[in-house]
Amino acid sequence: MALETETDSIVQQFEYSDNDVNKAVKEFLRQADEGLEKDGTSLSQIPTYVTAVPNGTEKGLYMAVDLGGTNFRVCSIQLLGDGTFSHTYNKVAVPKNLMVAKKAEDLFAFLAQEIKKFLEEHHSEDFEHHIRRRMTVSSPDGFRDEHIFRMGFTFSFPVKQVGINKGTLIRWTKGFDIPDAIDKDVCALLQAEIDKLHLPIKVAALVNDTVGTLMARSYAAPGKNGSVLGAIFGTGTNGAYVEKLSKLKKPLAGDYDQSTGEMVINTEWGSFDNQLNVLPTTKWDASLEKDSLNPGFQMYEKRVSGMFLGEILRLVVVELLNNPEVSFFKDENSSSNDRGSVTIISRDSGLFKQWGLDTAIMSTAELDQDPELTGLRQALENNLHVYAPAYEDALAFKKVAHAIGRRAARLSAVAIGAIVLQTGKLNDKDVTEEDPIDIGVDGSLVEHYPGFRPMIYEALRAIDGIGEEGAKRIRIGLTQDGSGVGAALIALVAAGME
Ligand code: ADP
Repeated sequence: MALETETDSIVQQFEYSDNDVNKAVKEFLRQADEGLEKDGTSLSQIPTYVTAVPNGTEKGLYMAVDLGGTNFRVCSIQLLGDGTFSHTYNKVAVPKNLMVAKKAEDLFAFLAQEIKKFLEEHHSEDFEHHIRRRMTVSSPDGFRDEHIFRMGFTFSFPVKQVGINKGTLIRWTKGFDIPDAIDKDVCALLQAEIDKLHLPIKVAALVNDTVGTLMARSYAAPGKNGSVLGAIFGTGTNGAYVEKLSKLKKPLAGDYDQSTGEMVINTEWGSFDNQLNVLPTTKWDASLEKDSLNPGFQMYEKRVSGMFLGEILRLVVVELLNNPEVSFFKDENSSSNDRGSVTIISRDSGLFKQWGLDTAIMSTAELDQDPELTGLRQALENNLHVYAPAYEDALAFKKVAHAIGRRAARLSAVAIGAIVLQTGKLNDKDVTEEDPIDIGVDGSLVEHYPGFRPMIYEALRAIDGIGEEGAKRIRIGLTQDGSGVGAALIALVAAGME
């Protein structure tokens, strides 16, 4: 009984009411406007220099490369002009010594070599054709413009973007450390190595993965109104949306095509409300924060994304384990354990280590509708080394996991709903249930967490200015491969601006 009461009280602390959602949406809109006016605000609102989204009719062969952390991916994409595409890719681990190379050139020369290998392996015919052309045409760089592959470069490290294919590295993360590259233009670094190998490739666009998601979605599911937002709910969370140029007040460093009157903005919404004006903070959020690597930053992300939800749950579970008033994962409940054995938690259980509980088990908990919770109890054994957990304990685990997941989904609706309101598109008569506002989402949470999208919709319906009727005119669809087809599409848009 004590466990049930305690669990209910925990669940209540993760409740995030309709009123809370509305307050947060207002604050999101305020911070979004602030970010469009000046630098150094909570929502960075980074201009991407991408001024149009695709409509599905785009055609051609493009390249995309992705340096994300552990791996380097090289990809060619044939856009077929009907919202579909075919692609080929190679993936290679980045050698550890190059992650900490002395000179930027060492890493980028390796990337260029991998691109060359890819061309030889998968595009030898096109490649030879280009080489032959190069020998017969005497343009300055040796290639005729129409024979140069345009390439999108997804580079998932902090950069200051100053043009569609220009951006200087601010700092390395994820185990990379090559001081020589700091403040240099990463596109120029890659282009220089590509040119040394005489490859017919132009680094046409520097790509953020969220922008890639928006582009990929707009190509595959364009509808009449195009897509307005691409959002990721995976390890981290972020969104990029189409904004009117007239609302972008801060000065831009580089040139761009002004004819569309729009530009894609990378919100960097993971850092929404770093000052905690409206975000909910339980004692477990505070505890996660205290022990995090970046206290005071990414406050929204720490309540929403896959990297953190499991850790919040782990902190609650540890508190329950240490509470002498309740019996949780202890022998007392084992009478209801169908195997008649006692509950034992192995000392090496992830429950006792920071980040030791993978958010994926929350999906297992949510999915398990079995009256005995057999699937979840098995996962507790396999993944967390809690042997022979009792039904009551698994149920308590499930309820807390649900509360944390539900709060995350409702918080996700804050960003999505605020961006929908920011675009003003709900006032547009052309936006109907048949031709809705389209949003592309990617990431394990939206893809695998059962009910995540329905919970987002439930909160969207409660937002002032959206409501039941507005929510029906918002379509949220899964989109993958933002760093492949999305990057290729940005290269295409960039080529059109040359
Ligand atoms: P990334 O964002 O790094 O590209 P993903 O979208 O796969 O990759 O997100 C990985 C994150 O999602 C990890 O934090 C992981 O714990 C979490 N995750 C993986 N599988 C699931 C799942 N089935 N349900 C919920 N979260 C998951």
